[in-house]
Amino acid sequence: MSKRAYNFNAGPAALPLEVLEKAQKEFVEYQGIGMSIMEISHRSSQYEQLNDETQSLLKELFAIPDGYKIMFLQGGASTQFAMIPMNLLKPGKVARFVHTGSWAEKAIKEAQLFGETAVAASSEADKFNRIPDVSNLQLDANTAYLHVTSNETIEGSQYQQYPDTGSIPLIGDMSSDILSRPVDVSKFAMIYAGAQKNLGPSGVTVVIMREDLLNDLPKNISTMLRYEIQAKNNSLYNTPPVYSVYMVNLVLKWIKENGGLAAMEKRNREKTDLIYQAIDNSNGFYRGVVDPGSRSIMNITFRLQDEELEKKFVKESEQAGFVGLKGHRSVGGLRASTYNAVPYEACKALADFMADFQKRNS
Ligand code: PMP
Repeated sequence: MSKRAYNFNAGPAALPLEVLEKAQKEFVEYQGIGMSIMEISHRSSQYEQLNDETQSLLKELFAIPDGYKIMFLQGGASTQFAMIPMNLLKPGKVARFVHTGSWAEKAIKEAQLFGETAVAASSEADKFNRIPDVSNLQLDANTAYLHVTSNETIEGSQYQQYPDTGSIPLIGDMSSDILSRPVDVSKFAMIYAGAQKNLGPSGVTVVIMREDLLNDLPKNISTMLRYEIQAKNNSLYNTPPVYSVYMVNLVLKWIKENGGLAAMEKRNREKTDLIYQAIDNSNGFYRGVVDPGSRSIMNITFRLQDEELEKKFVKESEQAGFVGLKGHRSVGGLRASTYNAVPYEACKALADFMADFQKRNS
């Protein structure tokens, strides 16, 4: 095989090489059954076992307490932006959001289609360069739930401390940082994540929902979009994304073999420290977009003096074997996504490249 690229893509993103190789080995024949996992019924004992084992692994790794239901759904995290208010925003109640940037905004816009929404805290006035202070949020009793975006993939900010919402359900979009660090899941009524950053390929969305939320949900919505139906049927109401779930299963095993979430966080911090140091030690040649107190260990965003130099950086980085360093088209600049599967060596190589690029251009 040719050398693996230094893959800093934002999502779909790098997968662990060991996982790809294991999948390759099992691609044509899954566990001696004479065919691949893609060719068997989702009602087969093999898939049922895979479905159950994947849930158990996630429960174990993420330390999900008893009393939560895990679902593997389709439609991406974007469909959750709609399913959440369709199911959980009752008339007379208000869905409240912490507005931290591009993905929070999409969640808000979608919820507005289904009921009343309000912004409980926002960093919009500061161009989303940080997570707003959520240590003392006052939430009215009519709050259906508070929604947070754990990691803003485009802006590059991440919660260091989640708000305490008491009896009000806290819902977290963890699409771009799930399993990057340990989380106190019991603080959340619901967590969801599209798989294609830290969990596997695209095609499956993980939903973790406290069981009491499943009570008394509206029945007059599309069957596929009802959590109650999905939960009751163990995510097998219709044909699930079998191959994506299989890949998530392999990724979870890889995380377990590599020490679980505490080890993931340690490694992610070591990786991102290298790159943040390259920014902070550059005498202003590189400028971090996000306040140090809100910096993400998954998406590092930075800028150069002008767009011409940024273009040059992208071009030369590509020639040097780096992929995906161009910032999102909506904000420009540069972004390195350093998900769990991005190796330390890739981050070291990037930090070295950044120092060298600075030397040659200042
Ligand atoms: N939320 C966040 C934080 C994301 O990063 C993304 C995808 N980049 C989404 C939601 C939307 O996910 P999907 O493409 O799976 O709908």
